[in-house]
Amino acid sequence: MLIEDRKAWPCVGCGYCCVNQRCSFGVARHPGAQSGLCPELEWTGARYVCRLMMPPSDIADFVKRQLRAGEGCVSFENPWRRDVRQRAREEAEAVGKKK
Ligand code: SF4
Ligand code: SF4
Repeated sequence: MLIEDRKAWPCVGCGYCCVNQRCSFGVARHPGAQSGLCPELEWTGARYVCRLMMPPSDIADFVKRQLRAGEGCVSFENPWRRDVRQRAREEAEAVGKKK
């Protein structure tokens, strides 16, 4: 069977992936917040980052490995990638409703 290479683009920190589909860490930590902006998402002023992957998180390396952080973005056509900015709660909630 021919398996195509996984295409990935650089992550620009738009945050869309964490809004569109919560990872298992986000689900486990925040079972009551399954839609909209993940409570672990933090806007730095220039991009979103995951608090679980940043100091002082004691599981940062584990989370990064499990989620393949640093290996690029596979959601290159998402509408937020071209417009990286802090999102309002309503915008994030609307992403979930489109499914
Ligand atoms: S959707 Fe892609 S560019 Fe946006 S935060 Fe996720 S990996 Fe990064
Ligand atoms: S912000 Fe972190 S915990 Fe939340 S969905 Fe994204 S990677 Fe998962």
